[in-house]
Amino acid sequence: MVKITINGKIYDAKEGESVLDVATRNGIYIPHLCYHAKTGAQGKCRACVVEVEGMPGLKTSCNLYVRDGMVINTKTDSVISAQKIVVDLMLSSGIHDCLSCEQNGICELQDASYYLGIEHPSYDLAPTFEEMPIDDSSEFILVDRTKCISCGRCVIGCTQTVVNDVLGFSKRGFETKITFDNDLPMGSSSCVQCGECMQLCPVGAIIDKRAKGKARSWELKKVETICGYCGVGCKLEFNIKGNEIIKINGVEDSITNEGMLCVKGRFAFDYLQDKNRLTTPLIKENGKFREADWDEAINLVANKFKEIKEKYGADSIAGLTSAKCTNEENYVFQKFIRRDIGTNNVDHCARLCHSSTVAGLARSLGSGAMTNDIPGIKKADAILIIGSDTSSAHPIIGAYIKQAVKAGTKLIVCDPKKIDIANYADVYVAQRPGTDIALINSIMHEIIKNGWEDKEYIKNRLEGYEEFKKAILSDIYEPENMSKITGVSAQDIRKIAETFGKAKVAAVYYAMGITQHVTGTANVWTLANLQMICGNVGIEGGGVNPLRGQSNVQGACDLGGLPNVYPGYQKVTIPEIKEKFEKAWNVKGLSDKVGLTVTEMMDGAYNGTVKALYVMGENPYLSDPNQHHVEEALEKIDFLVVQDIFMTETAQFADVILPAAAFAEKEGHLTNTERRVQRLHKVIDPPGMAKPDWEIVQMIGKAMGNDWNYTSAKDILDEINKFVPIYGGITWERVGKNGLQWPCPTTDHPGTPILHVGKFARPNGLGLLKHFEVVDPDELPDEDYPLVMTTGRVLQQFHTGTMTRKTEGINNLAGPMVMISVDDAEKLGIRNSDTVEVSTRRGTIQTKAFVTKRITQGVIYVPFHYHEAPANRLTN
Ligand code: SF4
Repeated sequence: MVKITINGKIYDAKEGESVLDVATRNGIYIPHLCYHAKTGAQGKCRACVVEVEGMPGLKTSCNLYVRDGMVINTKTDSVISAQKIVVDLMLSSGIHDCLSCEQNGICELQDASYYLGIEHPSYDLAPTFEEMPIDDSSEFILVDRTKCISCGRCVIGCTQTVVNDVLGFSKRGFETKITFDNDLPMGSSSCVQCGECMQLCPVGAIIDKRAKGKARSWELKKVETICGYCGVGCKLEFNIKGNEIIKINGVEDSITNEGMLCVKGRFAFDYLQDKNRLTTPLIKENGKFREADWDEAINLVANKFKEIKEKYGADSIAGLTSAKCTNEENYVFQKFIRRDIGTNNVDHCARLCHSSTVAGLARSLGSGAMTNDIPGIKKADAILIIGSDTSSAHPIIGAYIKQAVKAGTKLIVCDPKKIDIANYADVYVAQRPGTDIALINSIMHEIIKNGWEDKEYIKNRLEGYEEFKKAILSDIYEPENMSKITGVSAQDIRKIAETFGKAKVAAVYYAMGITQHVTGTANVWTLANLQMICGNVGIEGGGVNPLRGQSNVQGACDLGGLPNVYPGYQKVTIPEIKEKFEKAWNVKGLSDKVGLTVTEMMDGAYNGTVKALYVMGENPYLSDPNQHHVEEALEKIDFLVVQDIFMTETAQFADVILPAAAFAEKEGHLTNTERRVQRLHKVIDPPGMAKPDWEIVQMIGKAMGNDWNYTSAKDILDEINKFVPIYGGITWERVGKNGLQWPCPTTDHPGTPILHVGKFARPNGLGLLKHFEVVDPDELPDEDYPLVMTTGRVLQQFHTGTMTRKTEGINNLAGPMVMISVDDAEKLGIRNSDTVEVSTRRGTIQTKAFVTKRITQGVIYVPFHYHEAPANRLTN
């Protein structure tokens, strides 16, 4: 610490802090326009000049770093006069009609002018709109260069923060302007519309196009909550006027996203106030839905469940809980299924994404969750991304990885599609789909052969190494041999092995490209093998990091939305655990039989053993594989209840539909991909009669005659704290600004950012190595079906499109398509945008062709968001 004097008063400061930072922290205003905490000191606009005793001339305070005893004055005549000239010139160089400007009240140039007493610009230097026309070509962002002060924050934000590398400057002097790519209109450029430039703009030059004219800045109420889309768990700041959402900003001091958002989180919120939201319960009669009140609908559901349970037994009923609902709601749902219905038939869509992660990591490491945290990304010397289109499906984690690459981290990307983040890779390879074990085993073969494994770590922390080593060193895994299987050159395999094996700290990030295979669990374990032999588990910046797809898929698993475990991964088959929950829930005879999985429920509905299904916030008709089978199952089932925010494709099969509140309409918690439990705040009221999901479940339970007494989400969390050890210390009072990461067993525990530090979570504390042989995928191309189809997400859309597709601009950016290589398209006579038929052994869809060099020959890619071209009609 040092002491400095500002305007005659002494302040403590940290070594390395700038004068501007110390002044701002202590409430002393110094005008500044190019500086932002995130984009750093540029010393460019020169509005922040100050006088320093003993130093000649004036100094820019943003890049003037404190020294003990420094004496600074921010208000001398020469300082004010210099600041006035700078700010006056900026004001004079643009068209700043404050009265009609969107930024009026939050404009930093306005603040500086007001502070300096500049009422009118002194010069007439502004360009005309003919010289600098407004660019409204983008879906969500409007650019008015007549207001731009060339501070450069947007350019740094785009190139250094979100690392999209679209924005830059062109021309010089008064003609300087920001440009997109090679001076394209924003809407035609490669801009992904994350809005970071807009959030950093200190004036009204880059603004939210759809918010324009809707509210003055002082009319906006701000509420912070968590994004309801992917598992990154970005913090959002809703700006609302009355009950209307005007715009969303990222929260700058959030640990998960530091103000960054993707196009979905920032702009795809129209669904919340869409006219087609479900607002009243609906009951199907003679094939048509009619409106009902809560009493009628709830009594009907409760009586039907009782009747079916009595007639066919509890195991004839099943429930799908939701990766989009809160922790508290998932807890209540599984409690209802287990206690009130009496079965463990509860599961959710994690079955289709990361159940192989849970199985693979639980057996190898002892815990089935992401081992490391988001802030640690920058600590990795090397990162391997495999089977994850990170910048599309988890854009903010993609941004952090790109930031790390800019700072020197080596990036390896393995994916059959040349995904966006591959542009930043030191090594990019396109392995054939389904050959991940061959690739990773060959990489490990090279690592061990060259002695790059971590011998001390292996000796002290792992078991099974000798047997594993013997298998991996087999000649089969020579890169030349595995090259024939994977399609990756032996040279590239060796390069990856060297880059990864020699790195001091290396991390693996993966998603469904790894898990959605018949060898999913083996794929995951093989990645865990790689990380274990390199000593990368249990260290900052390393780890095995499965990226979870939905906002609360981690929480839904943690809180017992799985057929084999109670909340906190406590097995239903262990008598002491069963007794514990019997006591907790004041019931006798909980089932100790492992329940049905998502796909087994559909089989059960198809073959008549499952008579009733209760679906909360899921859309299996579009998200489950083999859609024809799901369709037949849903048609056959005796009684289907769907609780959701829209009439989804699945809801159309329902007997009763119950209207639920969306994420911005309720309180509770979500657990993000890095096990961070974060608070959700209510922003607006739910529409019509819609209610939070936990309230609806409780109403059904009560109507069945059971004991339910929660009055708030807090009551539910209090119960979770008592009976779920990993959440024991994550109390309502403790969650705080940055959330808490489980395991957090007690109220004095700080949470666990990194798992397996010092010892693994397995009973003997050791990591378990296991060799897996190369196995073919379940289906291989043949003469009739010569291509391999893969599926996944695009950046702009989410899951089954129920939410994102209600925002028009999102649909304009990303519609249905099949991605096909130039070579395959030429062979088949297909041109870009042609409507083509895609057929597999299960069905056919029609969609538009997107012919590109970014996908490997022999592979096609169909995103699964679209009901009119459902990829899951084709999948097995
Ligand atoms: Fe962040 Fe994911 Fe929401 Fe985008 S979708 S804002 S990356 S949480």
